[in-house]
Amino acid sequence: AFGAAAVPQAPEDPLFGLMAAYRRDTDARKVDLGIGAYRDNNAKPWILPVVKRADDILRNDPDLNHEYLPIAGLAEFTTASQKLVLGGNSPAIQEKRVTSLQTISGTGAVHLGALFLAKFYNKGSDRLAYFSDPTWANHFQIFSNVGLPYKTYPYFSHKTKGLDFDGMVSTIQDAPEGSIILLHACAHNPTGVDPTQDQWKKIAEVIRAKKHFPFFDTAYQGFASGDLARDGWAIRYFIEQGFELCIAQSYAKNFGLYGERAGCFHFVTSPSSDAESTVKRVASQLAILQRSEISNPPAYGARIASTVLNDPKLFAEWEANLREMSGRIKEMRTALRSKLEELGTPGTWNHITDQIGMFSFTGLTEQQVLKIREDAHVYMTKNGRISMAGLNTNNVEYFAKAVDKVVR
Ligand code: PLP
Repeated sequence: AFGAAAVPQAPEDPLFGLMAAYRRDTDARKVDLGIGAYRDNNAKPWILPVVKRADDILRNDPDLNHEYLPIAGLAEFTTASQKLVLGGNSPAIQEKRVTSLQTISGTGAVHLGALFLAKFYNKGSDRLAYFSDPTWANHFQIFSNVGLPYKTYPYFSHKTKGLDFDGMVSTIQDAPEGSIILLHACAHNPTGVDPTQDQWKKIAEVIRAKKHFPFFDTAYQGFASGDLARDGWAIRYFIEQGFELCIAQSYAKNFGLYGERAGCFHFVTSPSSDAESTVKRVASQLAILQRSEISNPPAYGARIASTVLNDPKLFAEWEANLREMSGRIKEMRTALRSKLEELGTPGTWNHITDQIGMFSFTGLTEQQVLKIREDAHVYMTKNGRISMAGLNTNNVEYFAKAVDKVVR
C-alpha cells in the first residue's frame, strides 16, 4: 500500500504565505510590498487598457472557439514572441535557428528548458547549473525537480547594494566547462540590480571562454525601463555573438496577464550549416516533453498578447502602457529615496533609484523586516525585498517613516 501517512509536511511557500498574512491583517494602514504584481496608484490591480481592447476584440470575434491549441501553442503568438525577444531583424530568426513553444507563463518556460537540458544537455558528463545569489526562489525547485544539480554565483554586494561583478565573473570563470549559467535578462528578481552593457560584454566573454550554456530568464521586458529594446539588449547581444542558448519568456508582468499564464520558451542554436536541422530535432523533442506534461498550452492569454503584438497600432498602445507602469515605479523610487534622505535615515539610499524593475533590495535585515510588519503592518519578504509597485503617493511617506524608525 502507498504509505501516504509517511509524507512529511512541506513548508508553506513563503511568498504566498506572506500574501495570506497580509489579507488577514485588519489594520487600515497595512501596506503590501510582497508579491511581484503591478498595482496602480490606488494599490489596485491594473488591467492594461490595451489588454482590455484586445479582450473586446476577441469577445466579439464570432469565430472564436475553445478548441485545443497545437502542442507548441498558438503560432502567431510564438512567432511574435520571437521577434519581441530577439528583435525583428534577428539573424537567428532569418536563419531559422530558433524554435519556440508556448508555455505556462515564465515558470513553465523555465521548467520546459530545465527538463530539456536535463534530458539532452551534455549527457553522460557531470552537469551543473549556476544561479545568481540570490535568485527567484523557484529556480532552485524547478531545477531540482528535473534532477539538475546547481550552485550559485555571487551577485549582490551587501556592501554597495549593487552588483558584485568581480565575484560573479570569477565564479563563472571557475565553473566547470560547459556549465549552465542562468541569467536574468533585466530587472533582476529579487535585487533590482542589473549588469551594465559593458559588464554584460565581459560576462559573455567569460561564458564563451568556458563553453558555458546561457539560459536567460526574461520576465520583465518593457516593464523595467519602459523600452523593449533596452530591456532586451543583453539577450540580443548574446545572440549577435552567436551563442547557443535558451530563453524563458513571461508575459505576466509586461501584459498584466498574471493568471492567464502566457509565456514562451525559445531555443536558439549557433550559426552553422546544419543549424536549421539541429533546431528541427530540438523542436521535435521539446514537443514530446510538452505533450507529456501539458498536452498543449492554455489559449486565452496567448490570444490577448498575440492580438496586441501583431497589430502595429495596438503594439504602440502597449508600449505606452509599459511606459506608464515603469514610469510610476520610477517615480516611487525617487519619492522613497528622497523621503528617506529628508528624514536623515541612517545609511545610504541611492540604491533605491539605482535599482530597476519591480523590486528593490532595501538592505533591511530579517529582524527589521519582522519589526516593520509587527509595528507598521508593512509586508515584505524576509530578505528585505520590496515590491515597488506596492508603493503609491498615499503610502510612500508612511513606509519611509516606518523604515526610518526601524533602522534607528
Ligand atoms: N522568472 C523570474 C525571474 C520571475 O521574477 C518570475 C515571476 O515572478 C518568473 C520567472 C515567472 O513568473 P510567471 O510564471 O508568473 O510568468
